[in-house]
Order: sequence, then structure tokens, then C-alpha cells
Amino acid sequence: MTDIPFTPTRSPRPKPDDASLAFGKVLTDHMFMMNYEEGRGWHDPRVVPYAPLSMDPATSVLHYGQAVFDGLKAFRGEDGQIRLFRAERHAQRLNKSCRALCIPEMDPGLIRESFEAVVAADHDWVPRAPGTSLYIRPTVVATDVMLGVHPSHSYIYFVICSPVGAYYREGVKPIRILASDNHVRAVQGGLGEAKTAANYAASLSAQKEAAEAGYTQVLWLDGVERKYIDEVGTMNIMMQIGDEVITPPLAGTILDGVTRNSALALMRDWGLRVSERKISIDEVMQAGRDGTLREVWGTGTAAVVSPVGELGYKGDVIRIGNGHTGLLTQRLYDAIMGIQYGRAPDPHGWMSVV
Ligand code: PMP
Repeated sequence: MTDIPFTPTRSPRPKPDDASLAFGKVLTDHMFMMNYEEGRGWHDPRVVPYAPLSMDPATSVLHYGQAVFDGLKAFRGEDGQIRLFRAERHAQRLNKSCRALCIPEMDPGLIRESFEAVVAADHDWVPRAPGTSLYIRPTVVATDVMLGVHPSHSYIYFVICSPVGAYYREGVKPIRILASDNHVRAVQGGLGEAKTAANYAASLSAQKEAAEAGYTQVLWLDGVERKYIDEVGTMNIMMQIGDEVITPPLAGTILDGVTRNSALALMRDWGLRVSERKISIDEVMQAGRDGTLREVWGTGTAAVVSPVGELGYKGDVIRIGNGHTGLLTQRLYDAIMGIQYGRAPDPHGWMSVV
């Protein structure tokens, strides 16, 4: 436990029924807060009742988007213990996003403590039904009040939490994805590998177009040649062609997904041939046509894995797995969930008890 000051709420909110949880709609009773001012550094970590933030309309984040965040989960195991999944890696990634946006980094140990302190305060909010979890959203925003474009001299860091339902209520379901050849998400030298507000704003119109065409998510191609696969929606992408598992490399345009890293580690443990390499949309479409494309799936904190059943590109559509989840996709899902809920051993030490 930590010695972070804690002010408990005087008006606890009603907790939702585990069966009715949607993503991110209900927030818990408390939040972690910390402030930064130039010269003083990060100071005053505290857990306080969840409350609105008050901001001057000229606050710089509202205009220029100097904002970073991350997303991780706490799980209630069958033994009743609450565990965080890869808190350290999420803390490191938050700091990496800070660096990309000229935001002063925080002590990684204190970031981890911020997760633990807020989950400890709201431990009763960690849902109990199978497949449910507590989503944790650490966020840093620039708070200088001034309309000039500049790296802010003051920031707030806050951590809020939301109980979330099982992602797949009726079993893992394949999604349809559309490779976009007219929108791009990121280019090398840009912000693609940071978890920053702008990337999500930039994705909305492509996502809207894909939804209008009947697809679930956008498959992002590289921003220069529009040829190589980057990532899918808010997930990293992986596929198995023949006996090779392929995922695009971390070359500056995609997020270093924690689930991606975990899936790669497990598949290497299992002795599979895993390549982090560039793969073109043409190679994937061809593998789909000649029958060597066995499985395609996305990886991310929200869903763990999301099988892809259909891929559209320039009017062509390939179908993968006949509407079924592939064996490897399912194996990854079961293995990661097993570790998260404390049902399986944790050989890499990914879980930490709160
Ligand atoms: N790419 C993007 C753009 C994302 O927003 C996410 C979700 N954080 C991911 C990939 C998957 O990352 P993770 O496995 O860490 O959730």
C-alpha cells in the first residue's frame, strides 16, 4: 500500500449491475490527481472524490491537444485478489507518450502507485462477473491559460476508472475490417507511437466511412506508400500465413501495444515462428486468395484479441476462417485471460496484486 493522501467520498454512487456494464459509461467514486508546475515539478499526489475539472476556456489542452493517456485493467481473480495487468509497461508507455508531446515525465514508480491507490480506494468497484474488469485511464493534460502555441508550463495528471463488461458476451466474434487507401493515421516522425488525443481525433472520419460501408474497424496502411499494414482501429494486427505469424514492426507509426507484446512473448514461448516485419496489403490479399492466410486478429486491452473474419480493400473482399475464430486466436485469448484472472501461472510476472 502507499502513503498517498486519500479523501474518501461522502456520497458514494450506486454501483451498476455487472450484467449491464458498457464500456466507459460509468465512472467510479474516486480519482487520483497530481499537479505539475515548472520549477516545482510533479507534486501533491492524492486520491480524491471523483469530480468535474474546472478549466478556463483558454486552457491550452482545449486548443492544441497537448494531452496523453493510457489504458489498462484490473481484474478480480477467482481467489478474490485484485490484480493489475502489466502496470509497469503501461507506466513506461505513458512516459514515452509524455516525451513525444513535450510533457514532463513522471516517476514510473509513482505512476504505478497512482494505479494501485485509485484501485485500492475503489476496490469494491472491480466487478465480479466472468469476463468483467475495471478499466483504468491515466491522463495528462496541459493546463497553461494562454492562447499561444507552446509546451505548457503546468499540467494535471489524473487517473479515473470505469467498470467494464465482458467484451464478448456471446463468445468471441469475428469482425469485418476495411483497409483505407484514402485516410492515413500516422507517418514516421509523427505521433503514431504516442497515445495522444490527436491520433483518435484523426481516426474518426475514416472510422465513420468504414462503418457506413458495413465494416467494424479501419485497417490503417502506411502514410507514405499506402502499401504496408500498420494497425487496425485501436488494436495492433497479427496474422498467420502458412506457419509464419506476422505482425508489423514497431517502426514509429504504431502503438507499442501491451497486448501485442504479451501475445508475441506467449507465441515465442510456444515455439511458433514469429516475425515482426513489414507486410503489404497485397501480400495479405494474395495469401487470402491462395488459401495460405490462416488467421488474422487484432490485439488490445479492451478485447484481448479480436478475430478478423473479413477484409475489404479497393472493392475486393477476402473471407478468413468461415466466420469462426482461428485456433491460435482462441489459444491466445484463453492464455491471456487465464493469466489475467489468476487461473493460470504467470511465468513472465505480468500481474501485480493491489
Ligand atoms: N493501437 C492503438 C492505436 C490503440 O489505441 C491501442 C489501445 N491501447 C492498441 C493499439 C493496443 O494497445 P494495448 O494492447 O496496449 O491496449
